[in-house]
Amino acid sequence: MKIERIEPIAVSLPMKKPIVMAGAAIARAENVLVRIAAEGGMTGWGEAAEAPTMTGETVESMVAAVNLMAPALIGREAEDIAGASAAMAGRMYGNSGAKAAIDMALHDLVARATGRPVYGLLGGRKRARIAILGVIGNGTLDGDLREAEAMKAGGFRSFKIKVGGADVKADAERTRALCELLGPELLLCSDANQGYSVANAIAYVRAVRGAGLTFFEQPVLANDVMGMAAIAAEADFRIGADESIHSLDDIRRHHEQKAAHGASLKTIKLGGMGGVMAAGRLCHELGMAINVSSKAGESSLACAAALHLAAALPSLDWGLTINSEGLSGDIVTRPIRIERGHATVPEGPGLGVEVDEALVARFRRDVPVRRVA
Ligand SMILES: [Mg+2]
Repeated sequence: MKIERIEPIAVSLPMKKPIVMAGAAIARAENVLVRIAAEGGMTGWGEAAEAPTMTGETVESMVAAVNLMAPALIGREAEDIAGASAAMAGRMYGNSGAKAAIDMALHDLVARATGRPVYGLLGGRKRARIAILGVIGNGTLDGDLREAEAMKAGGFRSFKIKVGGADVKADAERTRALCELLGPELLLCSDANQGYSVANAIAYVRAVRGAGLTFFEQPVLANDVMGMAAIAAEADFRIGADESIHSLDDIRRHHEQKAAHGASLKTIKLGGMGGVMAAGRLCHELGMAINVSSKAGESSLACAAALHLAAALPSLDWGLTINSEGLSGDIVTRPIRIERGHATVPEGPGLGVEVDEALVARFRRDVPVRRVA
């Protein structure tokens, strides 16, 4: 089944409320969809969110990157997804989000063509009902406590709060109060999204010692592995790496330097579903915990991909984070739903969600493109 056409489509999706994290507030989701058509009329869809501080990519750069890589893929056999990855790497350095959207569309296309779910291409399903790591994102003590209480009553068993602000003491107090509210049976982690200096991260770690935090994600800048190691040495809980993980080498380096004990895996960072599976297998081998996450703002399409990965990976100690319920406009006919703090991997062919082209047309926006090839 030869690849005939690869089309990047920029969309701007409305969100229910802005997502606030260290260094950014996201009010609308700016994503690129990729539609791949193969001979015989079969179609597959993929998606990547823009993430300038995580992958260095914007919607404009991803549209340009997809257009640049497409000629290297057209005419290839769609089933050879590893070969497509190699062809993309040969054509363009970096741009892991654009590559991820193409890779996701190929997985959807190939699985659809054979009438099976994508997890079947990834080695099979290890779990069907997946615990969601729910993000609490108010940034205030009262707001976070209220939201945590409501989510706990709604069936959530694992939670993430955002820290990394200027007031380390307030972050630590909020963390301790949430640990107390949730108790030792539930998982609580905090994520600084690179927001702290090493000194502030160490102050935070000392201030929350003994509180029962499960892990602390990306305290400092992505390239500061030694800083991460210094912070990890002070902690009585585990350190997670997110923005600093873009390759298998990054995972190995964090493990060797004792800079992280687990990693958050996203398709946009690792260049697609194949990259996440390889990263997850390596983490599992090294005894590192795994979290799978879609990017804030990604629709039910990328969230379905995250669910298939979460279903297929060898372990998933730190749960799955999906964000499509934060959108007030999704692009599939039956959006992915979280029920009682869990989501179920779709069983239909491909990614198991049907893209609604009328919704895509509604949220589509024009991106000026300079064709380079
Ligand atoms: Mg994170």
